[in-house]
Amino acid sequence: MGRKFFVGGNWKCNGTKDEVKQIVSTLNGGQVPSADVVEIVVSPPFVFIQCVKSELKSHFQVAAQNCWVKKGGAFTGEISAEMLVNLGIPWVIIGHSERRAIFKESNEFVGDKVAYALSQGLKVIACVGETLEEREAGTTMKVVAAQTKAIADKISSWDNVVLAYEPVWAIGTGKVATPAQAQEVHAELRKWLETNIKADVAASTRIIYGGSVNGSNCKELGGQQDVDGFLVGGASLKPEFIDIIKAAE
Ligand code: PEP
Repeated sequence: MGRKFFVGGNWKCNGTKDEVKQIVSTLNGGQVPSADVVEIVVSPPFVFIQCVKSELKSHFQVAAQNCWVKKGGAFTGEISAEMLVNLGIPWVIIGHSERRAIFKESNEFVGDKVAYALSQGLKVIACVGETLEEREAGTTMKVVAAQTKAIADKISSWDNVVLAYEPVWAIGTGKVATPAQAQEVHAELRKWLETNIKADVAASTRIIYGGSVNGSNCKELGGQQDVDGFLVGGASLKPEFIDIIKAAE
């Protein structure tokens, strides 16, 4: 199958110039597995993205945390996919639960964004995940399947997509999904891709887990058959991000 382990770090709206320099220096000095074992992508706030990209060692790639849904223009405050490509930014995170919840991004809007970013040559970390209410109501798979379908309906290739399963109740809460809970949803998502897209897409698409991953829980989570890596928030700002990357070994 050959799905290379993938570790993303989402710095969200955090950091000063000095703090960002410190994180970069920690990453550059960290002993991490080689590029044939793990793909590492960090996602600084837009204003720091160029400086992080130029200062990080080449094993680390960068991602934007968002981009506009179509060609740039009169959209005050937005950043277009074309601009990211122009700056040599290879990746973008789309559909993070904070954007879905706070900025009211619908499944369809997220699907359009993923499609446009891919059409411009970006690679996409596409996020899906259920709320606590949805999990307790037993609708987890229905919710993540609908979110995934809204993306699938708009794209013709999954080659440049990493699917991030991020249960909303686990993001930034310290309440991590158990390895069994994560594996169950990842396996269901892979089955969904097999049934609704194609067997080879299901076999090759990386499905990563996000939600309170840290240096202590990463090894067991990453050892699950269908967990191909992580999207890490809080812990990606700390030296323990290096330990999380090492879970790839
Ligand atoms: C995230 O924001 O994508 C995330 C997973 O955050 P945390 O690791 O802090 O839960």
